[in-house]
Amino acid sequence: MTLLKISGLSAGYGQVSVLHDIDLTVEQGELVTVIGTNGAGKTTLLRTISGLMKPSSGAVHFDGRDVTRLDGPATARAGIAHVPENRRVFTGLSVFENLKLGGFVARRDRKQRDEDLTRLVGQFPILEERRNQAAGSLSGGEQQMLAIAMALMARPKLLILDEPSLGLAPLVTQRVFDEIERLHREGVTILLVEQLANQALQIADRGVVLKLGHVAALGTARELMNDESVQRAYL
Ligand code: ATP
Repeated sequence: MTLLKISGLSAGYGQVSVLHDIDLTVEQGELVTVIGTNGAGKTTLLRTISGLMKPSSGAVHFDGRDVTRLDGPATARAGIAHVPENRRVFTGLSVFENLKLGGFVARRDRKQRDEDLTRLVGQFPILEERRNQAAGSLSGGEQQMLAIAMALMARPKLLILDEPSLGLAPLVTQRVFDEIERLHREGVTILLVEQLANQALQIADRGVVLKLGHVAALGTARELMNDESVQRAYL
């Protein structure tokens, strides 16, 4: 089943157009990665999907609904959880308090929320160990995991991750990617934006290469990894 369908999407900032006529789908249970160099429009694409920006033309359909004109909170309620580039966690609050807030916008059922909280901290042992520590005292990689776990508190149908590796050391990045791969195996549908094309394609089912706001290549992760022009430019 197609969960996310983007058709003819164009968007920009004022007079500056950034995305041009993007078509992309994400099937239920898939991990799709969007790769491309700095400024290709990856973040803009994610922001347009999750309602933080309005497209100038085109449409976004999600879970059988037209969500093109919905704002951020409404797309969150529709089941899209977006972890932005700078992984904002509430540094002065504990890990546990952050997780509670994670489900706040999309969830009202307190009992289920508490159950999810227990289940999620069990899945991320690092968070369990530090549940009462201030989030600001966590390392960059741990904060990234917390940001992802907060997003999962909403029980999203689609998890959108914007450059989770940003600012992390290679070893830590690998650990975060291992977690993303695990979530995918457990059935979470993921749209992952990454500049580390190689690592992202290693764990993805399919990939799309954005170049100057256009789709430059689209295929299975294996096809893209074997494509000479993709290899030359991005791998
Ligand atoms: P990065 O990895 O650096 O975030 P990206 O592929 O995600 O790159 P975007 O952040 O989507 O790219 O930026 C695409 C283009 O839009 C760039 O040329 C950028 O300068 C421009 N841009 C981004 N944000 C704004 C803004 N708020 N106002 C004007 N132009 C912007």
